[in-house]
Amino acid sequence: TVITRFAPSPTGFLHIGGARTALFNWLYARHTGGKMLLRIEDTDRERSTDAAIDAIIDGLKWLGIDWDGDPVFQFARAGRHREVAEGLVAAGRAYHCYATPEELVEMRETARAEGRPPRYDGRWRDRLPAEAPTGVKPVIRIKSPQDGETVVDDQVQGRVAFPNKDLDDFVILRSDGTPTYMLSVVVDDHDMGVTHIIRGDDHLTNGARQTILYQALGWHVPVMAHIPLIHGPDGAKLSKRHGALGVDAYRAMGYLPAAMRNYLVRLGWSHGDTEIMSTEEMSAWFDLDAIGRSPSRFDFAKLENLNGHYLRATDDDALFAIFIETLPYLPGGPELAARMTPELSAQIRAALPGLKERAKTLAELLDSASFLWADRPLALDEKAAGLLAGDARALLGDLHAAFAALPAWDAAATEGAVRAYAEAHGLKLGKVAQPLRAALTGRSTSPGIFDVLAVLGREESLVRIADQAA
Ligand code: GLU
Repeated sequence: TVITRFAPSPTGFLHIGGARTALFNWLYARHTGGKMLLRIEDTDRERSTDAAIDAIIDGLKWLGIDWDGDPVFQFARAGRHREVAEGLVAAGRAYHCYATPEELVEMRETARAEGRPPRYDGRWRDRLPAEAPTGVKPVIRIKSPQDGETVVDDQVQGRVAFPNKDLDDFVILRSDGTPTYMLSVVVDDHDMGVTHIIRGDDHLTNGARQTILYQALGWHVPVMAHIPLIHGPDGAKLSKRHGALGVDAYRAMGYLPAAMRNYLVRLGWSHGDTEIMSTEEMSAWFDLDAIGRSPSRFDFAKLENLNGHYLRATDDDALFAIFIETLPYLPGGPELAARMTPELSAQIRAALPGLKERAKTLAELLDSASFLWADRPLALDEKAAGLLAGDARALLGDLHAAFAALPAWDAAATEGAVRAYAEAHGLKLGKVAQPLRAALTGRSTSPGIFDVLAVLGREESLVRIADQAA
């Protein structure tokens, strides 16, 4: 069976590229009936934090990406990594190196002067243990092959050959006995039974070094798929402004997890021209051969449109539940949560069908619903104030009287009254509806005006109209 893994370093939030990597691993495992494991690569003790671990787990959960078994913490396995390094020395596949920091600097500088990449020259590779200086703690270096090439047969990049002269005898165990990233990843992937490594192509050269380690250990090399990184809309490295944010920022902007999954899967993978697909469809169709070789471009406008589609396509009760769950993260959401009452909740739910037609994000939805709980007298935005200039306030006085006399209060009744008023005064419907909208919502746009009246109820509608009437 296929075993994939997501292996984030907990040094910051779960960024958008990491989320896509997690999604691809998850989809591939689901597609093949395999498993996805989670490994927290917390070996950088200075930069790894518990807050980052929580943010990664929280972000994955929000996205609806789950994993099999308990997360594996890499640092806890350092003893096992050291054992493997020492085993390699015993087997003659790795060696102790006593080169001093000064010697290493000198090697680097010579390389730079000669215009070639820095490279450890292998000076301790064939020396005898008896030559070791006393009182110096050595590092352990792998004996890399010196001629020929190391090939990564990548599922995305194709066959990529690295001349071995460029891959020097890299360090696998530091002089303080801690493993390097290169060693830890190989040992963990092996011990966890990982069959497929799917990750960003910034790790491609590491893939070659790791291949050398697998070969030295006599272990089977997992299938590798190095996916092109996500770029900004201009083709340059993804910047913050263009989307290089943590997934928590996307939640706070009001994107739906389902829309995020759909958007992320299309960043680098395609299924014909299909843009919109359910998670079931994604996992049915996802395969490594349809991952593109060129970097994908992050496009906020496209994400917004897709999210708008998902808002409209989500059933009202389900959307309402997501909206309420997301409140703590949305701008103005905690304030709304604090003043929530059963009545207000029912009003928002009733207004939702009209609200979701106009919103691209939950944040926009909250904003456009805010007239429901606005304090009286309503603050008018500039356009709304414009709508109430001139005769409009007198018109509101007339409408107030007409509405007060209505025997029933529903969309049909108020619509009848407004149409009758418009006809009697030779006005287009909009000329009546717009000032009314301004008085009821403080804005020039809102859900359908008769829905607004129905949701607000007669009493609240009448006082809001009276507040603005002449
Ligand atoms: N911890 C590495 C990172 O966050 C990933 C290593 C891997 O996937 O092999 O970039």
